[in-house]
Amino acid sequence: MPNLARLAARGEVGRAGVIPPGMPPGSDVGNMSILGYDPARFHTGRAPIEAAALGLRLRPDQVAYRCNLSTVGDDGTMLDFAGGHPSTEQATEVIEALDAQLGRGAGSDVAFHAGVQYRHILVTPAEWADADCAPPHDLSDKPVVWPTGPAAAKVQAVMDASREIVGGFGLQANQVWLWGQGFQPQMPRFFDRTGCEAALVTAVDLIRGLGVLTDIARVEVPGATGWFDTDYEGKRDAALATLEAGADLFLIHVEATDEAGHAGNLEEKVKALEAWDRRILADLVPGLDAMGPWRMLLLPDHPTPVELKTHTTDSVPYLLVDSATEGAGGIYTEPATEACEAVPGHELMARLVATT
Ligand SMILES: [Zn+2]
Repeated sequence: MPNLARLAARGEVGRAGVIPPGMPPGSDVGNMSILGYDPARFHTGRAPIEAAALGLRLRPDQVAYRCNLSTVGDDGTMLDFAGGHPSTEQATEVIEALDAQLGRGAGSDVAFHAGVQYRHILVTPAEWADADCAPPHDLSDKPVVWPTGPAAAKVQAVMDASREIVGGFGLQANQVWLWGQGFQPQMPRFFDRTGCEAALVTAVDLIRGLGVLTDIARVEVPGATGWFDTDYEGKRDAALATLEAGADLFLIHVEATDEAGHAGNLEEKVKALEAWDRRILADLVPGLDAMGPWRMLLLPDHPTPVELKTHTTDSVPYLLVDSATEGAGGIYTEPATEACEAVPGHELMARLVATT
């Protein structure tokens, strides 16, 4: 990753604690930190952020659950938290059938809303909130852990009833998995906190939802897939064009590295990292140089080690580069930053946008 190495050599390299102690190591928490919002203060759950991305405004008496299309074996093993990665079109049919038979179509007080690929939303009454639900990506190849707590029976009943409906579609997915529930978080606008007009590109509803909740503009790139085949150049060009048009800050999100980690696929992880270098950074840097002085913050929202196939709470390496200042320099790898004391992840944004 020669372009990354060059940036690291002129910037500041360190470790960031993007997952505050005691919080779940999810992209919802990690990306809140990256945007400069302390998750310990603002995070209510993952699903309400994704619900915002779908344009759902939750009432105070409503809770949103994340609804994965997933594959659970007859022996109770989580075979695939992503249900074989159905297309959005395939998945939408399934979610519409679920809503017809278990949701609004059946006069129920819950509603299924189709999202992207295997990621969907179930909106329930507030009293469904009190359940402990395991994130399905933490259960890969393991016996599932069913929900516990006062509302667990309701959640379990929906998951059980979904098997007959989802199973009828001939996909790898055979049921829904409900988790990540919460009320709608109250986040101040990004502009009000930073004075920056910001935009972002992502294929993931969660990141779009953070954009909706903080009033950061969402730029759509048709080839952005959230998968290994995503359009890296399209995201890079969207960043440059949006900055050229007057935005102060642009967030590029790539999901492929995380998905490669979940799949335990070392080859795809390496490819995704190298794509960041060759297909984004290589031309992004000269493009930024042409616009004037710039800063860049680069970091993952959490680790997803190929060996573990799931997220961990470890701190992550970060790189902060200022085009006008020669930094201490360093090497942007996990081993090279291991000895650095982690700074709170949500404090980095203030440094990125600082006017001095
Ligand atoms: Zn992940």
